Formats: sequence, C-alpha cells, structure tokens
Amino acid sequence: MAITRNTKAQEEVLKLMELSKHTLTVDEICELVPLKVNKTTVYRMLERFVAAGKVHFITDIDGKAHYALCNSCKEHHTLHNHIHFQCTECNHVECLPTKVEIPVLPGYQMDETQFLIVGVCKECNGK
Ligand SMILES: [Zn+2]
Ligand SMILES: [Zn+2]
Ligand SMILES: [Zn+2]
Repeated sequence: MAITRNTKAQEEVLKLMELSKHTLTVDEICELVPLKVNKTTVYRMLERFVAAGKVHFITDIDGKAHYALCNSCKEHHTLHNHIHFQCTECNHVECLPTKVEIPVLPGYQMDETQFLIVGVCKECNGK
C-alpha cells in the first residue's frame, strides 16, 4: 500500500534527521534511509515538513539545500536565528546553538533568514 509505505518512509526520514549530528541533503537522505525512496518523494516530503514547521533548511555555498529538524517551531518559522556552519573539509553543514539577533529593518519585509558561516569545523580542525 502506497500510503503505509509513505508513512513509514516519513518516519524513517525524521528519525534519520534526529540521529544525525549535521544537516542532511536530499541525496544523503536517499542514501541513508533504510527504505528505498526516490529523490522526488524525499524532496516533497521535506517540503511538507518545512511547511509544517518540523524541518528547516539552509542553502550552502554551492546553492544546495541542507535540511535539519526544528526544535519547537510551528508554521511561520522561517526567521530562524541560529547559526549554521559549513565545513570546507568534511562538507557537513551543522546547526549551531549560537544565536544571532535578527536586526529590525524598518520598511523591509523579512521572509526568511539563513545564517551561514564557512570554515573548518571543530572535528576537522582537531585532526
Ligand atoms: Zn523552524
Ligand atoms: Zn569538518
Ligand atoms: Zn538549523
């Protein structure tokens, strides 16, 4: 049954994201999820999660989206104020607990925030 299979896949994707120390791209999810799912399915699933405030994404320096779970977001959660770190050695993008203050910009409408720092992560730096 398609519905059961989809629900199972959704659970697996969420679990995968929960256990991952860093954000995951659609490719990584397809590779890691035990159930075989195609990219389009994963992409649509993530879009739904994003719309529901369960998941957010950050675009890396190559324009690729990396997805991570949201802790206590609901809908309208696009103005995240935590920092993301992209490592040029291992290429992982992490959500960091460090928060930045979102500036007040009178006259501007803010739809989305993406805070990305690029460099070498703690683990790669320690090698
Ligand atoms: Zn969120
Ligand atoms: Zn690294
Ligand atoms: Zn994040």
